[in-house]
Amino acid sequence: MQTAHPNKVAIVTGGGGGIGLAIAKRFVQHHILTVIVGRDQEKLNAAAAELGPLCHIICQDLNDLSSLPGLVQQIIHRFGRIDILVNNAGINQKKDFTDVSDEDFHRILHTNVSAVFALSREVVRSMETAGSGIIINISSMAAQYGIPKVIAYSASKSAIEGMTRAMAVELAPKGIRVNCIAPGFIATDMSEKALNGDTERKQKVMSRTPMGRLGDPADIGEAALYLASDGAGYVTGVVLPIDGGNSIGF
Ligand code: NDP
Repeated sequence: MQTAHPNKVAIVTGGGGGIGLAIAKRFVQHHILTVIVGRDQEKLNAAAAELGPLCHIICQDLNDLSSLPGLVQQIIHRFGRIDILVNNAGINQKKDFTDVSDEDFHRILHTNVSAVFALSREVVRSMETAGSGIIINISSMAAQYGIPKVIAYSASKSAIEGMTRAMAVELAPKGIRVNCIAPGFIATDMSEKALNGDTERKQKVMSRTPMGRLGDPADIGEAALYLASDGAGYVTGVVLPIDGGNSIGF
């Protein structure tokens, strides 16, 4: 096992499956103690069994904003500090624009934006004290170009990119780097739900992805590891597409 990041402590939200699990796996392989947070205890247990002793799990709903200060305190109390926060947990909904209720819209924005803000704020308070820290947000192609039937998701991911830049500028003098990964279409439960059974959408995705295939969650894990590393020490405020060329595809 490599020890490129000895003693670092990371939080990966939604780390029980999909992209979050791949990020957590890459972190653990690089000796980063990784706390994954999700709602599904069974998924978390399976992830912990797979990732081994450097992985710790906390079953908590990030939508409960009032619980987030306690979550952060619990992690700091147990592991001493938080060096890296990956705001990966997110939800999607595919619906015609006029069928989206105010509740639908609010639900997506709450998880994808409000919870990201509230958790980041709590973590940044401890990073400020430490004088260093790394935050990685997860955006989407929905913030790069217009995709039909995902209005709330598009709004939420566009907000994430703006927040990334605002945070990067404000927090750079405090030693905190804030970056964003914009995954293309990655093979997970989320993309399966959005694309399977919708041949037209799937063809559209593939036709504008020069590499001609969906991405692997591990591709995002690799990018997150880079942004979390000292090698990215002069990188802040970027939105890094990991997309097989989808965002620049014809
Ligand atoms: P999955 O649906 O596979 O995973 C999402 C994760 O988020 C789950 O592990 C889930 O955990 C967690 N989560 C959702 N809501 C909450 C909550 N309220 N509290 C705690 N955890 C929560 O999706 P992906 O892995 O595909 O997506 C991960 C991120 O990548 C998302 O932000 C998504 O928008 C983004 N993304 C994905 C793309 C893709 O093609 N797959 C493309 C672009 C962006 P649990 O089940 O335990 O609640």
